[in-house]
Order: sequence, then structure tokens, then C-alpha cells
Amino acid sequence: GIRLKDEILRVEQILRAAQINFVSDGDFSPTCVSLLTENILSMCLKEAVNNVVKHSEAKSCSISIEQSLKELVMKINDDGIFKGEKEKLAEGHGLIGMKERLEFINGRLEILIKGGTTLIISVPNDVK
Ligand code: ATP
Ligand code: MG
Repeated sequence: GIRLKDEILRVEQILRAAQINFVSDGDFSPTCVSLLTENILSMCLKEAVNNVVKHSEAKSCSISIEQSLKELVMKINDDGIFKGEKEKLAEGHGLIGMKERLEFINGRLEILIKGGTTLIISVPNDVK
């Protein structure tokens, strides 16, 4: 599995190659989630950024992580244009796969479409 701190480095390179501005905020070495949860977060981050590069036509992308007592929230925001149909995401594709993996660990995915696209990924803390 890929650690979040390694994936964020890859994502930075991918965005730089696509000439999309990159901003990140927060701690990408979380201590309150299991390795399985971290691996799933890494996969989500990778797919989210692939989508930004493939679909959004964004100029910039910001990625943040916040940890609270209860959960970890990772947000991936771009300033492009959402091209999909929010209510019927095709099965077997990236966003559905993300949602399914998150549900497996009691996490969730929200998609906000306003001045670009923001994915809000929340997972419960599972390490005491
Ligand atoms: P796959 O992930 O299997 O390669 P995909 O990227 O088309 O295929 P999803 O990742 O599920 O599939 O995304 C569904 C659709 O939502 C995309 O085809 C695209 O139209 C739209 N979309 C997703 N993310 C973004 C984004 N950041 N900006 C603009 N459109 C997006
Ligand atoms: Mg995709």
C-alpha cells in the first residue's frame, strides 16, 4: 500500500506536469487512522487528482487534511468545471470505486460543485 505522504509527492509532480497550480495544507502523516484507511485515502487522492488533470481544465488545485477527535477529513478542490452527471455516476469508474472503498471503512464521499469541484472525503479515526 501507498502512504499518504508518498502519494502527495506523486500528486504534486502530476499536477506540476499538467501546469496546474498546487497548494496543500495539513499533516499528510496522520496518526489516528490505520494503515488500511491510509491506503484507501491514498487511492482516493490519486483518483481525485487524475480526474482534476483529465477533466477539470482547472488552473489550480488545493488539497487539505484536517484531523479531529472523531474523524479525518481530506478535501481536494479545483477551480475548473465539473463535467459529469452528479446523480448518476457510471459504475466501475473512479468516483464510484472511491465511494465503495470508503463505505467499506465507514467513510464517505461528498461532491461539491461550486466554482469548480470539491471532493470531501471523511473517514473515522480507527487508531486510539
Ligand atoms: P475513470 O475514473 O474510470 O478513468 P472517469 O474519470 O470518466 O473514468 P469518474 O472518475 O467516475 O470517471 O468521473 C466521472 C465523471 O465526472 C468524469 O467523466 C467527468 O466528466 C466528471 N469529473 C470527475 N471529476 C471531475 C473534475 N475534477 N472536474 C471536472 N469533471 C470531473
Ligand atoms: Mg476518474
